[in-house]
Amino acid sequence: MNVTSIKGFRDVLPDEAARRRAILDATRGVLESYGYAEIELPLLEKGELFQRSVGATSDIVEKEMYAFEDRDGTLIALRPEGTASAVRAYVENGLTRSLPVGRLWYSGPMFRRERPQKGRYRQFSQIGAEFFGRDDAAADAETLCLVADICAAVGVRGTRIDLNSLGDAACRPAYREALSEYGRLHASELCTDCCARLERNPLRLLDCKNPGCKAAMSAAPLMIDHLCDPCRAHHDEVLRLLGVAGVAVTANPRMVRGLDYYCRTAFEVVAEGLGAQDAVGGGGRYDGLVAALGGPDMAGIGFAFGLERLDLASRPDGDDLGVAAAAVKILMAPVGEAAAGPALALARRLRQTGLRVEMESPGRRLKAQMKHADKIGARFVVILGDAEIASGRATVRDMRAQLDHASLFGLADDATAIVTKLEQIGQFEQR
Ligand code: AMP
Repeated sequence: MNVTSIKGFRDVLPDEAARRRAILDATRGVLESYGYAEIELPLLEKGELFQRSVGATSDIVEKEMYAFEDRDGTLIALRPEGTASAVRAYVENGLTRSLPVGRLWYSGPMFRRERPQKGRYRQFSQIGAEFFGRDDAAADAETLCLVADICAAVGVRGTRIDLNSLGDAACRPAYREALSEYGRLHASELCTDCCARLERNPLRLLDCKNPGCKAAMSAAPLMIDHLCDPCRAHHDEVLRLLGVAGVAVTANPRMVRGLDYYCRTAFEVVAEGLGAQDAVGGGGRYDGLVAALGGPDMAGIGFAFGLERLDLASRPDGDDLGVAAAAVKILMAPVGEAAAGPALALARRLRQTGLRVEMESPGRRLKAQMKHADKIGARFVVILGDAEIASGRATVRDMRAQLDHASLFGLADDATAIVTKLEQIGQFEQR
């Protein structure tokens, strides 16, 4: 039996890896244009971190976290999300003092033991951003502008930003009570999961996908109708600013999000064509989390995009090859052992000019090498056979024109002079 990968853990093959890098580059560009600085965070954290932040009764911690006891007895978790780590790092490294209004972003794998399906994996990657130290509505609006700009830069199709307010410590407890009261009255219509949520995490009753629960909860009280005056004013101001900035959002009073730490503004970005797992990203405000993790009383708001879903929602239809196939511009074709060394040396020098140069095997016949050049979509083939080695000059095949240029350049020529020669025989875009 072959050893296979673990269920829910997948390999990212070269075409997808190239698209992911392009997505990451585009996202990084937007984040940096907003003043965000990158932070690298560990993959492993103490389990306690997520129990205290995401919430011990959340699905993520209760059911999905990969956790184990280390040799010294400490409970260790593979991180299921990035916000808790970012906040921990912000506090632990004294950034609350040195960077009291801080904008940080991160990317990397997250781990959740969910039921795998299209767009849902047990290891997936997120690109996340956290904005610390501002509790005003303009910070929320700026964050949503950033979210919209990332979607545009990545080219996500058919996005919609759902927005809600989850209230705060002043108004949510009473609402929570009203909601569980309503839930208790309808308990016989709820699924077993929701019955368990009734007392512990009643907000989650609102976003259960079970049709019976949906029907039972259709007339449930909504947070948006129970906001206290400051939360109401904050929410209205966020909406007003987004209108001025030209960012379209959709009010979704049933969107609650799975993590305990959110307050006031919460949002989710959904994209069309993704099926059941249509959220490409989500986030919200988490004032109180910095203090809960041992820092000062400091506000925060952030979000995370799922890299796999950004890819699914932005990839060109039916075109799996895009980026990777376009990348190789030149195939170096040494024919015979004598050409192997000069070909290696020439390829290295050409790469230093920024060209992509792939080496063929000197043991293969030219015809087979040409076939490969076709397959990878090479623009030029630099042919080094016995005649070329003897004369010290290369033959170049222009793959587009299907034309050979004998003795186009000398093997010892300056690399930039060679590039100029290539440009003269056929326009090409260097990337
Ligand atoms: P969350 O941290 O749950 O708010 O998730 C933020 C984003 O991460 C979601 O909108 C998804 O795009 C992505 N995501 C969450 N869980 C998974 C998963 N199991 N597989 C793939 N992507 C995920």
